[in-house]
Amino acid sequence: MATFMEHPPNRIVRLLQLGQWRRVLAGRSIWYCVSCETCSTRCPNKVHLASIMDALRKLSWDLKGQSKESYVQLVNTLFLENIRTYGRQYELRLAAFFNMKSGQYLKDMMLGPKMLAKGKLKVFHETNKNIEEIQKIFDRIEEMRKNGEAT
Ligand code: SF4
Repeated sequence: MATFMEHPPNRIVRLLQLGQWRRVLAGRSIWYCVSCETCSTRCPNKVHLASIMDALRKLSWDLKGQSKESYVQLVNTLFLENIRTYGRQYELRLAAFFNMKSGQYLKDMMLGPKMLAKGKLKVFHETNKNIEEIQKIFDRIEEMRKNGEAT
């Protein structure tokens, strides 16, 4: 993934050592890390970079809008909203809300109808039969956040 990163993993560590974390957060590198852990398992200095990338994404999330790749955060939010509401993914809603909220209103105008016609997208959502259990998980996480047990 380093090909897509403006700061390759080794430089990210160096920038962090130099206190340049804002520069790291302002870039896209942390969003292109796929958490494969190759770096962590091979690092001769035992730096667990995959965990550092996770922590940086969380920091970026908490600071809202530091990243140029804020669309990633929008997708994450909408994805989880769907899981909470339906207990599973509802792709049509995800795409529609993403396009509206990101201001890309015509983005899927050509592709969307083709996918609907081929049955790749469903017009109506299905709800998971265990939705109540799933919602309890979300409620529990919210409770833990309020109590400072989770971030
Ligand atoms: S976990 Fe490490 S090797 Fe894997 S994509 Fe992220 S930075 Fe690259």
